[in-house]
Amino acid sequence: MPKQNVVDQFSRPLQDLRISIMDRCNFRCSYCMPAEIFGDDYAFMHEEELLSFDEIVTLAEQFAKLGVKKIRITGGEPLLRKNVPTLIERLVHVEGIEDIALTSNGVFLVKQAQALKEAGLARVNISLDALTESVFQTMNGRNVKPEIVLKGIDAALEAGLEVKVNMVVKRGVNDQEVQPMALYCKQKGINLRFIEFMDVGQTNGWDFSQVVSKKELLDEVAQIGEVEALEPNYFGEVASRYRYVESGEEVGFISSVTETFCGSCTRARISADGKLFTCLFAEEGYDLRELLRSGATTDMVADYLVGTWEKRTDRYSEERTEESVRNKRKIEMSYIGG
Ligand code: SAM
Ligand code: SF4
Ligand code: SF4
Repeated sequence: MPKQNVVDQFSRPLQDLRISIMDRCNFRCSYCMPAEIFGDDYAFMHEEELLSFDEIVTLAEQFAKLGVKKIRITGGEPLLRKNVPTLIERLVHVEGIEDIALTSNGVFLVKQAQALKEAGLARVNISLDALTESVFQTMNGRNVKPEIVLKGIDAALEAGLEVKVNMVVKRGVNDQEVQPMALYCKQKGINLRFIEFMDVGQTNGWDFSQVVSKKELLDEVAQIGEVEALEPNYFGEVASRYRYVESGEEVGFISSVTETFCGSCTRARISADGKLFTCLFAEEGYDLRELLRSGATTDMVADYLVGTWEKRTDRYSEERTEESVRNKRKIEMSYIGG
């Protein structure tokens, strides 16, 4: 099938693909995999349920034919999967894919950053929600100290990866860490992106009162140094970007709750067991693993992806307050991959 660009019901092109390669995680962040729900008896996927690397590459090839240029590998914690550099190396060679990034909690980067870079990974987003030990431990739910993530950040920088840091802010839990985190990243010249606490999944006890808005976060950052807004780099950019006027470092805000961006949402997501989701807040996915394992040809897979994207009407963030979506059963962030 020749290259064809597809658009959905609101003329949004298909440009980015997020692939979750592992549903398990070594953290239990309260906003994502609360420990009381994701306990010892939680039914995580068996290995044969996960998409194989061959299956992931086949899907990436078909998505690339439909206009996808960027792939982000995520999870759960993607680096809990064995041989991730091998996967990266294969994805780098997929025709049409121009950019491959990884989102990780950073714990395994000390060991793996170099190999990932050598495999062709360009960028890594490392999640870090606090610098103060007790606050970080409360956020990650597993008593992990921030030092291990800070070492992971250094390892990624030393390996030559472009690093961004993601910080989810929950009011009353880690909001006092906003300025220390902004200062740490500014001093290191790292782009920090604040993420509003989102109502993903069914289990994180989300409440609007715990959301620290982009506006509040921006006010806090501006106390460190004057900032100015930057133009988006491309259509569909998720973060609104700012720079410190004097020193030039960037800081971004992902304001999925208070300033929605569904109108330019160009992202498809694949869960670790091969379900395609056309929205982070979807209730159901489309089973690509079943399609692949039933012997579908690559053209049949591509046709299926076209059909699915063309009928897409998702705009959950814009509808969030409407009665019709309030009782939706949403899938978990650790399953779909953020
Ligand atoms: N484990 C990796 C990590 O934490 O970077 C990758 C997967 S994680 C699901 C991807 C991103 O989603 C992380 O930056 C995390 O902070 C963010 N995230 C998870 N739950 C969230 C929520 N309820 N609201 C906002 N961001 C969330
Ligand atoms: Fe794990 Fe990432 Fe979810 Fe935290 S946000 S529990 S590190 S998947
Ligand atoms: Fe995209 Fe759905 Fe998020 Fe809107 S709510 S930006 S459609 S993922």
